Amino acid sequence: MVNAIPSLLGFSEKNGQWFAEGISLRKLTQDFGTPLYVYSKEAICSAYRAYDSACIRPDGTRRARIHYAMKANSNLAVLDELKQLGAGFDLVSGGELARALHIGADPKSLVFAGVGKSSAEIENALRVGVKCINVESIPELQRINAIAKTMNLRAPISLRVNPDVDANTHPYISTGLKDNKFGIAYYEVLKTYREAALLPQIDVIGIDCHIGSQITSTSPYLDALDKVLDLITQLQREGIKIHHLDLGGGLGIDYGGESPPNITEFTNTLLNRVEERGFCHLEVLLEPGRSLVGNAGILLTQVEYLKTGVDKNFCIVNAAMNDLMRPTLYEAYHAIVPIHVSQAKPNCYDVVGPVCESGDWLGKDRVLAVNEGDILAILSAGAYGFVMASNYNTRGRAAEVMVDGNEAYLVRQRETPESLYENERTINQASALK
Ligand SMILES: *Cc1c(COP(=O)(O)O)cnc(C)c1O
Repeated sequence: MVNAIPSLLGFSEKNGQWFAEGISLRKLTQDFGTPLYVYSKEAICSAYRAYDSACIRPDGTRRARIHYAMKANSNLAVLDELKQLGAGFDLVSGGELARALHIGADPKSLVFAGVGKSSAEIENALRVGVKCINVESIPELQRINAIAKTMNLRAPISLRVNPDVDANTHPYISTGLKDNKFGIAYYEVLKTYREAALLPQIDVIGIDCHIGSQITSTSPYLDALDKVLDLITQLQREGIKIHHLDLGGGLGIDYGGESPPNITEFTNTLLNRVEERGFCHLEVLLEPGRSLVGNAGILLTQVEYLKTGVDKNFCIVNAAMNDLMRPTLYEAYHAIVPIHVSQAKPNCYDVVGPVCESGDWLGKDRVLAVNEGDILAILSAGAYGFVMASNYNTRGRAAEVMVDGNEAYLVRQRETPESLYENERTINQASALK
């Protein structure tokens, strides 16, 4: 297993102490307790600026727009900072639409994706006037047409193309292979566009593809891009006009040894290919999630017990699979580091949580010099961390803090046990309420 520590902008070590921007992590745990998610505003904003500056030509005109895929981290504070920098959003549910509207996002900056949009979600998206609905199947296209008819409007849509390219990532986060549930099969795309163009309540405006997540090389993107540009050429020949090309997200980050292309290089490579192939007037959308927030967040946890054995030693901490599910779900690697130097003897541990599942682990075979009570930082936890948290074992979800320079802001309170069952009733209580 890789053991490198990713370099995290916004987090640093000085004299054996770790800091989030200007505040020591120890101070944050004293003020807010553990487990605690900590995000660096500067790290999020600088990743956004790296994308955004690659989207602007030297003459100041724009070659592409960023729609943050909010499922990676949908805390309102994160959304608001990105909105202020000019980001639009990529949504995958009615809940995410509600969040985007709640922070005052312009509906025209929203694109709505997902394979299983309900009628209520489609109706709501059309009512508020989202920029585009990314359609993932023929039945969905027909449903949108029918709903738009009852609302007496035309629905702006893209078809999500499944380009059948291998993104070389974990099978659970690969989405652009023909065996995946996502998108419209490549060989059916032209036929589906012809059908869409004939539907009276459908306004074909774009084309979309998203091939997966945690992708660490540019070549699968270029393969997908070429296939999609070929389709656009064909569509234009047939008189079906495509105004925008949505290239999805998926750029990977360094969790501990990966070396994905940097954001600027990656964005330039894709946008240059679009222009080299003569599509200079196509509006391009990018939908990064993980690469904007993943390395801008960490999860702090306290060591409860060190349990030594013949074959295995366990470092039992107070964060668990319910707080950070990626190790359990994908066997994902997260670097884990103590936040202060310890005199303890280094030992090899599996870092595990208190949840009653053998799959509840956060890191395996990690050499750590720690004592009970020490604080560990689980790195690269800003994406697909808190958003995947659950209340399993009636554990309240962790607090979230955003650090901005020398200030720390509690951007989500720790959940109390009472709040976890406040919507439940015994049969007796329920019948009294009838
Ligand atoms: C998840 C998702 C993204 C973002 O993926 P990342 O790997 O987090 O960049 C973008 N677009 C769509 C449609 C998605 O489902």
